Amino acid sequence: MSKIIAITNQKGGVGKTTTAVNLVASLAATRRRVLLIDLDPQGNATMGCGIDKRELEADGYEVLTGEVTAADAIQRATGDFDLLPGGADLTAAEIDLAHADRREFRLRDALADIVDNYDYIFIDCPPSLNMLTVNALTAADAVLIPIQCEYYALEGLSALLDTIEQIRRAANPDLEILGLLRTMFDPRNNLANEVSNQLFEHFGDKVYRTMIPRNVRLAEAPSYGVPVLLHDKTSRGALAYLALAGELLRRAELAKAQA
Ligand code: ATP
Ligand code: MG
Repeated sequence: MSKIIAITNQKGGVGKTTTAVNLVASLAATRRRVLLIDLDPQGNATMGCGIDKRELEADGYEVLTGEVTAADAIQRATGDFDLLPGGADLTAAEIDLAHADRREFRLRDALADIVDNYDYIFIDCPPSLNMLTVNALTAADAVLIPIQCEYYALEGLSALLDTIEQIRRAANPDLEILGLLRTMFDPRNNLANEVSNQLFEHFGDKVYRTMIPRNVRLAEAPSYGVPVLLHDKTSRGALAYLALAGELLRRAELAKAQA
């Protein structure tokens, strides 16, 4: 079963963090035990969970360098899930890990002790293919790729698929693509529909049937430091992420039955 899932796309601003926070909160609302790892120096997921990235005692950086254990860095987030926070310190990981041993395996090794405490662990990745992303992809069982259906979306995707293939060869042969998620989707936009059709042609069943519409409540929620479920649970954005959680769980059940 895919339990550790990296939410990744090196393209910026496609909805990785929004998906990470709100999918995790939606799974927590269905009583799953979930951990969110913020592996982005921007710390947006951390702030979006109501935790101040400037006041962290320990974050992903100390976990990657081995100064603290994951268990010691984890905090409880607003919305009934756990958060391994991230902030500006993570920027230094790139340099500090450059000559470290098992540098790609730092996150995987750090999670070994706590993985059994959770049903799912999601990792919010930065918008680049750096050492942090490599650590996420090496620790993960699978990737979830948010895609904004616009002109350059598919071009960026092939670079990401190449990276996934490289990681499979080098460190993590079982890394799967869990699914592709259409974000900020506007069904009235012709280009969006065209790109969406191309996604189905190339990736078939890997594309989630659930799509996330553009919804202002999703954009507002982080300014209150809460997932959208706690900001406006009847909004289209909140309902879309609940539907995505449902689809993800149904697919996992199906995969288990077929195994
Ligand atoms: P980065 O690459 O910088 O980490 P990201 O891929 O994590 O970005 P987000 O931060 O989730 O992307 O989203 C980018 C911006 O778009 C944010 O301001 C967010 O609030 C907004 N946004 C994301 N999804 C939606 C949506 N479905 N409807 C409206 N606004 C959205
Ligand atoms: Mg982000």
